Amino acid sequence: MNREVPLLQARQVIASRPKETGGLQRVLAKTTLEVNSGEVLAIVGPSGSGKSTLLRLFNRLLEPDSGEILLAGEDVRNLSPPTLRTHIPLVTQKPFLFPGSVRHNLQTPARLRQMELPDFNDPALLELLELCHVDSSWLDRDARKLSVGQQQRVCLARAMVGPCQVLLLDEPTSALDRPTADQMALTFRQLAREKGLAIVFVTHDLRLTERCADRVAFLSNGAIVEEGSASQLLHHPETPEVRAFLSSEVTETEEVPR
Ligand code: ADP
Ligand code: MG
Repeated sequence: MNREVPLLQARQVIASRPKETGGLQRVLAKTTLEVNSGEVLAIVGPSGSGKSTLLRLFNRLLEPDSGEILLAGEDVRNLSPPTLRTHIPLVTQKPFLFPGSVRHNLQTPARLRQMELPDFNDPALLELLELCHVDSSWLDRDARKLSVGQQQRVCLARAMVGPCQVLLLDEPTSALDRPTADQMALTFRQLAREKGLAIVFVTHDLRLTERCADRVAFLSNGAIVEEGSASQLLHHPETPEVRAFLSSEVTETEEVPR
């Protein structure tokens, strides 16, 4: 991999989505953004500002009208969507698990892609499970009978069983209670630091942002209006949009230790 090139880049990307009344609605203005290995980037903004749309463009769950997405300098259109999604998986707000055991769930992506199944004696896999706080005693349990927080951990581990380079997370903790969400925040940081992943997560949760983001891009009405370090943007916002958003949210960012 060329180290001069950011791991994931969106370059001048524009996107539209269908309107209920017919035709298309522009939901993302020309957007340029990048994230590097080991870095956690939060995409923050009000509901409907285009956060999920932007996230979904990264692994071709949506295609842009124009512009390009590059993974390690290579246009993602050169990779088939299933292959691309092993490198850039998306974990959604509500955990989705297939019927069957946790072990079965962790094997499913490889099975669907006719790749070699993960080996549960492989120290690298055991380390991954540990990093995601997936207890090995869960492996033979019915995945759908775990708590929501446990299910979210299994989804996270499943996303990373393959050759994951960038992890996309869409409102990853909004279905969790606060202690579980805080634990997950810690897990995200560890995954970035210890596995060198790039993490892009979408949220309107400032507490989560403060706890795990290195950098924040603030999206308003389909445009990035401010971008900077998490502490700069959360504590010294420069634009009226970010200031208004911060003052409308119940924040506890000042009392959160890093
Ligand atoms: P956010 O994640 O910030 O809440 P979204 O990316 O989901 O925002 O939505 C951005 C815009 O795209 C909104 O105007 C929304 O109504 C529209 N949109 C979102 N999902 C769809 C969809 N599946 N079909 C058509 N329009 C959509
Ligand atoms: Mg969304």
